[in-house]
Amino acid sequence: MTDTYLMPTYARQNISFVSGEGVWLTDTAGNAYLDAISGIGVCNLGHSHPAVTRAIQQQAAQLIHTSNLYRIPAQEKLAEQLCQISGSEKVFFSNSGAEANEAAIKLARLYGHRKGIESPVIVVMENAFHGRTMATLTATGNVRAQQGFEPLLPGFIRVPWNDVAALETLIDNTSICAVFLEPLQGEGGVRVADTGYLSAVKHLCEQQQWLMMLDEVQTGNGRTGDYFACMTEHVAADVITTAKGLGNGFPIGACLARGAAADVFGPGNHGSTYGGNPLACSVAAEVVETLTNEVIPAVNAKGDRLRTKLAHVLDGYPLLDEIRGRGLMTGIQLTTDCAAVVVLARENGLLVNVTAGNVVRLLPPLIITDDEIDTLCQQLGKTLDQFARQQEAS
Ligand code: PLP
Repeated sequence: MTDTYLMPTYARQNISFVSGEGVWLTDTAGNAYLDAISGIGVCNLGHSHPAVTRAIQQQAAQLIHTSNLYRIPAQEKLAEQLCQISGSEKVFFSNSGAEANEAAIKLARLYGHRKGIESPVIVVMENAFHGRTMATLTATGNVRAQQGFEPLLPGFIRVPWNDVAALETLIDNTSICAVFLEPLQGEGGVRVADTGYLSAVKHLCEQQQWLMMLDEVQTGNGRTGDYFACMTEHVAADVITTAKGLGNGFPIGACLARGAAADVFGPGNHGSTYGGNPLACSVAAEVVETLTNEVIPAVNAKGDRLRTKLAHVLDGYPLLDEIRGRGLMTGIQLTTDCAAVVVLARENGLLVNVTAGNVVRLLPPLIITDDEIDTLCQQLGKTLDQFARQQEAS
């Protein structure tokens, strides 16, 4: 095994997994790990979920790909499911989150041009993460990720997230066509907006005829307790993008639209060879049904249990700044950068991730049991104690 031929775009950990079941992964040496990151918020139904495996096997044996030159019944079914869940009216399917966001950005620009705006501008947020393609990288609020890839795209203005007053300062800017944001910020540090922020953004967007576009690539598909995070606050965004948990590991993304936004794209305006193919859509349709019927109703209680237990385990922990999150999206912010926690946790049989430098991020599969939540908290408590001792010694 060698990584010599791989472009080193990731600082990969020197471990690989050969199998998975539920929240557990097994490495090449036979060691088991509790996976509290789910392939970065993807495997919401856990590993090797029988419904997902069955859908892949059955559809792969029947028909994998035909292209969007033809009607695809599984695509139509999945679009209807997503629209019924979210109140959207139309869906465009892609293969990833960044591509779903590219679709939203193009949709917003076309909407702007149709309104007579010569050079449409999309408002984006500080600390946002929307992907690595040129448009989504431009929309992303992370200078380090952007460095070296200039020139970035024109047509974006950035304001602080969770700040209605900052948005209100833009009301006289007649070039704005849309506001694009995450309902909770994931990569930016697992940040939860104040109650009422999304409704206030929606209100302003309606008043200004700006499209409200929510990036639910990470927060969607049950992660934060409802199918989409905006549903918790009863906010009907004009555009919702999603990916990650939609395919449980099978690559698929979607850009959902309602109202005026649903009527923007016509033939030739956008496309994807693979997007929404029979295999991806059959798998995702099964995922959506299983999440909705069997999994999402218990997510909030599990998330509450996780954060309550964590608060107990970390009571008095000297490096703790804040525990926050919603549903099964949790961040533990420490008072110091903590990349070393990932390695220590792994040595304790636990897979976590650190984002924004000092936030331990937990995105366990949504099917995690109460006992597994307790194991997670115990192992993380042990890990963070070791980390504190390391810090003290250095
Ligand atoms: N948007 C958000 C909020 C994300 O968290 C991510 C990935 O982490 C993306 C977009 C990009 O998704 P993908 O990696 O599937 O292109």
